Amino acid sequence: MRRKLAAGNWKMNGLRADLATLHTLAERHSAAQVDILLCPPATLIGACTDLPFAIGGQDCHPNTSGAHTGDISAAMLADAGASHVITGHSERRADHGETDATVAAKSQAAYDAGLQAVICIGETLNERETGKTLSVIDQQLAGSIPDSSSAANTIIAYEPVWAIGTGKVPTLDQIGEVHAHIRARLTARFSDGDDMRILYGGSVKGSNAADIFGVADVDGALVGGASLKADDFSPIISALE
Ligand code: 13P
Repeated sequence: MRRKLAAGNWKMNGLRADLATLHTLAERHSAAQVDILLCPPATLIGACTDLPFAIGGQDCHPNTSGAHTGDISAAMLADAGASHVITGHSERRADHGETDATVAAKSQAAYDAGLQAVICIGETLNERETGKTLSVIDQQLAGSIPDSSSAANTIIAYEPVWAIGTGKVPTLDQIGEVHAHIRARLTARFSDGDDMRILYGGSVKGSNAADIFGVADVDGALVGGASLKADDFSPIISALE
Protein backbone atom coordinates (compact mmCIF):
# COMPACT_ATOMS: atom_id res chain seq x y z
CA MET A 1 0.00 0.00 0.00
CA ARG A 2 1.47 3.35 -1.01
CA ARG A 3 0.95 6.05 1.60
CA LYS A 4 -0.42 9.29 0.18
CA LEU A 5 1.94 12.27 0.21
CA ALA A 6 1.17 15.99 0.12
CA ALA A 7 4.40 17.84 -0.70
CA GLY A 8 4.86 21.60 -0.80
CA ASN A 9 7.67 23.24 -2.76
CA TRP A 10 8.10 26.83 -1.64
CA LYS A 11 10.66 27.55 -4.40
CA MET A 12 12.35 30.95 -3.79
CA ASN A 13 9.67 32.12 -1.39
CA GLY A 14 9.56 32.35 2.36
CA LEU A 15 10.96 34.48 5.16
CA ARG A 16 10.90 33.64 8.84
CA ALA A 17 7.68 35.65 9.15
CA ASP A 18 6.02 33.13 6.83
CA LEU A 19 6.62 30.22 9.19
CA ALA A 20 3.31 31.05 10.90
CA THR A 21 1.63 29.42 7.90
CA LEU A 22 3.29 26.14 8.77
CA HIS A 23 2.29 26.29 12.41
CA THR A 24 -1.32 26.84 11.30
CA LEU A 25 -1.04 23.84 8.99
CA ALA A 26 0.45 21.74 11.76
CA GLU A 27 -2.50 22.54 14.03
CA ARG A 28 -5.03 21.67 11.34
CA HIS A 29 -3.39 18.43 10.25
CA SER A 30 -1.83 17.15 13.46
CA ALA A 31 -3.52 13.77 13.05
CA ALA A 32 -3.13 13.59 9.28
CA GLN A 33 -3.58 10.15 7.77
CA VAL A 34 -1.19 11.13 4.99
CA ASP A 35 2.48 12.09 4.80
CA ILE A 36 3.21 15.80 4.56
CA LEU A 37 6.51 17.08 3.18
CA LEU A 38 7.48 20.72 3.12
CA CYS A 39 10.42 21.96 1.04
CA PRO A 40 11.16 25.53 2.15
CA PRO A 41 14.15 27.52 0.93
CA ALA A 42 17.35 26.17 2.52
CA THR A 43 17.57 29.22 4.77
CA LEU A 44 14.43 28.06 6.61
CA ILE A 45 15.13 24.35 6.97
CA GLY A 46 16.64 24.74 10.44
CA ALA A 47 13.63 26.75 11.57
CA CYS A 48 11.21 24.06 10.35
CA THR A 49 12.54 21.04 12.17
CA ASP A 50 10.16 21.38 15.11
CA LEU A 51 7.17 20.98 12.80
CA PRO A 52 5.41 17.61 12.55
CA PHE A 53 6.17 17.37 8.82
CA ALA A 54 8.98 15.88 6.83
CA ILE A 55 11.28 18.68 5.64
CA GLY A 56 13.12 18.68 2.35
CA GLY A 57 15.64 20.72 0.39
CA GLN A 58 14.89 21.89 -3.14
CA ASP A 59 18.23 20.90 -4.67
CA CYS A 60 21.61 19.51 -3.67
CA HIS A 61 25.08 19.40 -5.19
CA PRO A 62 26.24 16.00 -6.50
CA ASN A 63 29.51 16.25 -4.52
CA THR A 64 29.80 15.80 -0.78
CA SER A 65 31.91 18.94 -0.16
CA GLY A 66 34.41 21.23 -1.82
CA ALA A 67 34.93 24.51 -3.64
CA HIS A 68 31.40 25.12 -4.93
CA THR A 69 30.41 28.56 -3.72
CA GLY A 70 26.71 28.89 -3.03
CA ASP A 71 25.96 25.20 -3.32
CA ILE A 72 24.64 22.89 -0.61
CA SER A 73 25.45 19.20 -0.28
CA ALA A 74 22.94 16.50 0.55
CA ALA A 75 24.80 15.83 3.81
CA MET A 76 24.36 19.51 4.75
CA LEU A 77 20.63 19.25 4.13
CA ALA A 78 20.47 16.13 6.29
CA ASP A 79 22.54 17.86 8.98
CA ALA A 80 20.12 20.82 8.95
CA GLY A 81 17.21 18.45 9.59
CA ALA A 82 15.97 17.53 6.12
CA SER A 83 14.87 14.00 5.25
CA HIS A 84 14.14 14.64 1.57
CA VAL A 85 15.41 16.69 -1.36
CA ILE A 86 13.81 17.61 -4.67
CA THR A 87 16.03 16.81 -7.65
CA GLY A 88 15.56 17.64 -11.31
CA HIS A 89 12.84 20.24 -10.92
CA SER A 90 12.13 21.70 -14.36
CA GLU A 91 13.07 25.16 -13.09
CA ARG A 92 16.55 23.87 -12.25
CA ARG A 93 16.78 21.94 -15.50
CA ALA A 94 15.90 25.19 -17.34
CA ASP A 95 17.66 27.81 -15.19
CA HIS A 96 20.82 25.83 -14.43
CA GLY A 97 21.14 23.56 -17.44
CA GLU A 98 20.70 20.39 -15.41
CA THR A 99 20.72 17.28 -17.57
CA ASP A 100 19.32 13.85 -16.74
CA ALA A 101 22.85 12.81 -15.80
CA THR A 102 23.13 15.74 -13.37
CA VAL A 103 19.80 14.81 -11.83
CA ALA A 104 20.85 11.16 -11.44
CA ALA A 105 24.12 12.25 -9.78
CA LYS A 106 22.27 14.55 -7.38
CA SER A 107 19.74 11.83 -6.58
CA GLN A 108 22.57 9.38 -5.84
CA ALA A 109 24.19 12.01 -3.60
CA ALA A 110 20.87 12.29 -1.78
CA TYR A 111 20.72 8.51 -1.19
CA ASP A 112 24.33 8.47 -0.01
CA ALA A 113 23.45 11.12 2.59
CA GLY A 114 20.42 9.16 3.75
CA LEU A 115 17.87 11.44 2.08
CA GLN A 116 14.90 10.47 -0.04
CA ALA A 117 14.92 12.09 -3.47
CA VAL A 118 11.80 13.55 -5.06
CA ILE A 119 12.87 13.22 -8.69
CA CYS A 120 10.97 15.49 -11.08
CA ILE A 121 10.19 14.75 -14.71
CA GLY A 122 7.77 16.23 -17.23
CA GLU A 123 7.34 17.40 -20.78
CA THR A 124 7.26 20.93 -22.19
CA LEU A 125 4.25 22.26 -24.07
CA ASN A 126 6.04 21.83 -27.38
CA GLU A 127 6.86 18.22 -26.54
CA ARG A 128 3.23 17.55 -25.61
CA GLU A 129 1.88 19.21 -28.74
CA THR A 130 4.22 17.25 -30.97
CA GLY A 131 3.25 13.91 -29.44
CA LYS A 132 6.53 13.34 -27.65
CA THR A 133 5.28 13.22 -24.06
CA LEU A 134 5.81 9.51 -23.39
CA SER A 135 9.16 9.34 -25.15
CA VAL A 136 10.40 12.35 -23.13
CA ILE A 137 9.17 10.68 -19.95
CA ASP A 138 10.98 7.48 -20.91
CA GLN A 139 14.21 9.36 -21.55
CA GLN A 140 13.98 11.24 -18.25
CA LEU A 141 13.11 8.11 -16.28
CA ALA A 142 15.99 6.19 -17.81
CA GLY A 143 18.50 9.02 -17.36
CA SER A 144 17.49 10.71 -14.10
CA ILE A 145 16.79 7.75 -11.84
CA PRO A 146 19.82 5.90 -10.48
CA ASP A 147 19.92 2.09 -10.53
CA SER A 148 20.16 2.18 -6.73
CA SER A 149 16.68 3.74 -6.44
CA SER A 150 14.00 1.98 -4.44
CA ALA A 151 10.61 2.74 -2.93
CA ALA A 152 12.43 3.57 0.31
CA ASN A 153 14.58 6.34 -1.16
CA THR A 154 12.71 7.59 -4.22
CA ILE A 155 9.53 9.48 -5.02
CA ILE A 156 8.76 10.43 -8.61
CA ALA A 157 7.01 13.72 -9.38
CA TYR A 158 5.35 14.07 -12.78
CA GLU A 159 5.22 17.81 -13.45
CA PRO A 160 4.29 18.86 -16.98
CA VAL A 161 6.33 22.04 -17.46
CA TRP A 162 3.39 23.82 -19.11
CA ALA A 163 1.18 23.20 -16.08
CA ILE A 164 3.58 24.73 -13.54
CA GLY A 165 2.36 28.08 -12.26
CA THR A 166 0.08 28.56 -15.26
CA GLY A 167 -3.30 27.45 -13.95
CA LYS A 168 -3.41 24.97 -16.85
CA VAL A 169 -3.86 21.35 -15.82
CA PRO A 170 -3.79 18.27 -18.05
CA THR A 171 -7.05 16.39 -18.36
CA LEU A 172 -7.55 13.54 -15.92
CA ASP A 173 -7.08 11.13 -18.83
CA GLN A 174 -3.76 12.76 -19.72
CA ILE A 175 -2.58 12.54 -16.10
CA GLY A 176 -3.74 8.92 -15.90
CA GLU A 177 -1.96 7.99 -19.13
CA VAL A 178 1.39 9.37 -17.98
CA HIS A 179 1.15 7.99 -14.44
CA ALA A 180 0.26 4.52 -15.75
CA HIS A 181 3.19 4.75 -18.14
CA ILE A 182 5.58 5.75 -15.35
CA ARG A 183 4.24 2.94 -13.15
CA ALA A 184 4.83 0.38 -15.92
CA ARG A 185 8.41 1.59 -16.40
CA LEU A 186 9.11 1.55 -12.65
CA THR A 187 7.76 -1.96 -12.14
CA ALA A 188 9.71 -3.21 -15.15
CA ARG A 189 12.96 -1.78 -13.81
CA PHE A 190 12.74 -2.02 -10.02
CA SER A 191 11.61 -5.01 -7.98
CA ASP A 192 9.65 -2.67 -5.70
CA GLY A 193 8.56 -0.30 -8.48
CA ASP A 194 4.94 -0.89 -7.57
CA ASP A 195 5.62 0.63 -4.14
CA MET A 196 7.29 3.82 -5.44
CA ARG A 197 5.09 6.85 -5.04
CA ILE A 198 4.29 8.98 -8.06
CA LEU A 199 3.15 12.55 -7.35
CA TYR A 200 1.43 14.86 -9.79
CA GLY A 201 2.56 18.51 -9.82
CA GLY A 202 1.43 21.57 -11.78
CA SER A 203 -1.31 24.02 -10.76
CA VAL A 204 -2.79 21.75 -8.09
CA LYS A 205 -5.38 23.66 -6.05
CA GLY A 206 -8.07 22.87 -3.54
CA SER A 207 -10.63 23.00 -6.35
CA ASN A 208 -8.99 20.34 -8.56
CA ALA A 209 -7.14 18.22 -5.99
CA ALA A 210 -9.84 15.63 -5.29
CA ASP A 211 -10.35 14.92 -9.00
CA ILE A 212 -6.61 14.56 -9.60
CA PHE A 213 -6.19 12.31 -6.55
CA GLY A 214 -8.94 10.07 -7.92
CA VAL A 215 -6.75 9.13 -10.90
CA ALA A 216 -5.08 5.72 -10.67
CA ASP A 217 -1.37 5.80 -9.72
CA VAL A 218 -1.53 9.37 -8.42
CA ASP A 219 -0.13 8.99 -4.91
CA GLY A 220 -0.24 12.66 -3.98
CA ALA A 221 0.90 16.04 -5.19
CA LEU A 222 3.93 18.29 -5.37
CA VAL A 223 2.42 21.72 -4.86
CA GLY A 224 4.07 25.07 -5.59
CA GLY A 225 2.03 28.27 -5.32
CA ALA A 226 -0.84 26.73 -3.36
CA SER A 227 1.54 25.46 -0.65
CA LEU A 228 2.51 28.97 0.42
CA LYS A 229 -0.63 29.72 2.43
CA ALA A 230 -2.29 27.45 4.99
CA ASP A 231 -5.76 28.21 3.60
CA ASP A 232 -4.65 27.07 0.13
CA PHE A 233 -2.55 24.03 1.11
CA SER A 234 -4.91 22.72 3.77
CA PRO A 235 -7.77 21.73 1.40
CA ILE A 236 -5.25 19.88 -0.80
CA ILE A 237 -4.01 17.88 2.20
CA SER A 238 -7.62 17.25 3.22
CA ALA A 239 -8.44 15.94 -0.27
CA LEU A 240 -5.82 13.23 0.24
CA GLU A 241 -6.95 12.25 3.75
P1 13P B 1 2.56 25.20 -9.02
O1 13P B 1 1.77 24.36 -8.03
O2 13P B 1 2.76 26.61 -8.57
O3 13P B 1 2.03 25.07 -10.40
O4 13P B 1 4.05 24.58 -9.03
C1 13P B 1 4.21 23.22 -9.17
C2 13P B 1 5.63 22.89 -8.93
O5 13P B 1 6.51 23.25 -9.71
C3 13P B 1 5.96 22.15 -7.70
O6 13P B 1 7.28 21.70 -7.71
